[in-house]
Amino acid sequence: MIKVGVLGLQGAVREHVLSVEACGAEAVVIKRKEQLDEVDGLILPGGESTTMRRLIDKYDFMDSLKEFAQSGKPMFGTCAGLILLANHIIGYDEPHIGVMDVRVERNSFGRQRESFEAELDIAGVAEDFAAVFIRAPHIVEAGENVEILAKHNGRIVAAREGRFLGCSFHPELTDDHRLTGYFVEMIKESKQLAI
Ligand code: GLN
Repeated sequence: MIKVGVLGLQGAVREHVLSVEACGAEAVVIKRKEQLDEVDGLILPGGESTTMRRLIDKYDFMDSLKEFAQSGKPMFGTCAGLILLANHIIGYDEPHIGVMDVRVERNSFGRQRESFEAELDIAGVAEDFAAVFIRAPHIVEAGENVEILAKHNGRIVAAREGRFLGCSFHPELTDDHRLTGYFVEMIKESKQLAI
């Protein structure tokens, strides 16, 4: 069975676990860096990227997360998780994990629209995906190897670069598991390539 890790330091962890299980894969909540060896792919949940970064440093996770990213195993960053994956964050000198060739802006949908739902057409996933945005970032610019999967009001809100998948919204907060399912398929493909 495919094993999907969910980084369990902060944020919407439990909901991702349920979504992974609904897709027929096994979910492992990652609280210690050693557990990363057990899983075939990793979800970085939404929450608060600055808090998550503080906990990543506190529990000495950063090198292991970077190694995981280089190992060829897929990673999926949702909302704050997308900020962790991005190689450039507007207003910051340094990225966090910094492996996905996208430039992101935090909290970029404005105060009045702190949270909202929008129906998205996500290439290869669904034409009618109900996406929940909570103080969401968006992708301002994407490198040439990045495939843009969805836009909302002209802004990029989902993208894939090889084994890295990122979205601005919270795909785990509804019963629609199609984007998580897409990530599980990415993991299956990467395992086949590794054999
Ligand atoms: N605003 C948060 C951040 O900048 C992300 C919000 C979320 O993950 N729902 O990290």
